[in-house]
Amino acid sequence: MTSYEVIKNLEVLFQHLNEYYFDNTLPLPYITLYAGAKKNGNGSHGSFYLDKYINVNNDEDYKHEIGIAGERLGDGIYQVAETLMHEMVHLYCTCNAIVDCKGKSHTKKFKTECEKRDLICDKEQGIGWGRTEATPAFCNYIQSLIDDCIIDTHICDYARYTTFPETNPTQKKAYICPCCGVKVNAKVDTAIACLHCNVAFDYWDMTDPDDPKIITDNNNGLAMTDEGWYGQMFGVDDE
Ligand SMILES: [Zn+2]
Ligand SMILES: [Zn+2]
Repeated sequence: MTSYEVIKNLEVLFQHLNEYYFDNTLPLPYITLYAGAKKNGNGSHGSFYLDKYINVNNDEDYKHEIGIAGERLGDGIYQVAETLMHEMVHLYCTCNAIVDCKGKSHTKKFKTECEKRDLICDKEQGIGWGRTEATPAFCNYIQSLIDDCIIDTHICDYARYTTFPETNPTQKKAYICPCCGVKVNAKVDTAIACLHCNVAFDYWDMTDPDDPKIITDNNNGLAMTDEGWYGQMFGVDDE
């Protein structure tokens, strides 16, 4: 499968759904793949964008855009077709001045247009009537396209595996008096001293408070002895 073949199949699928469910009234949009997963789990399956591709030589001429989340390709052809259909209903509503969404919430008018076209519409927190599902009639139609070799199900062979970088806990560094353990948070390692104990502070990485790590030891390991704050708190290595 090449990316060309994936998009071509989605485009052919669009054209057949357009003919079967919209009397061929929808303009052909750009169909794109995008990363739909979100770190918090609230990813999307598809997108109908309000932004358009505008002809650089003629701003009256433009194309809409429908995106299919690459992560969802692996869900199978019925799911992908259902997502495409959901976005096509948005396109239909946009072209016919039907208010399909108020903010992120899908309206009852959107639901009505979906139900005319073999989708089931349910209400979901935050997205209104935006939770669509394919009816058996819809799946039968998609299956007929597969049986007639119009659609190649191999477009679902590869799914985008989206990862998110681990966020490192912010490093916390501090000056600590080796004797009394008094602590001063600081980002920069410079020399300061405890007037009370008359010793220089050591510089510590306190990111994990249960496992402090010394960065600059100004007192020859004094903090780690049984007189030092660390030795008293975490015990002394007697090797
Ligand atoms: Zn929607
Ligand atoms: Zn001190």
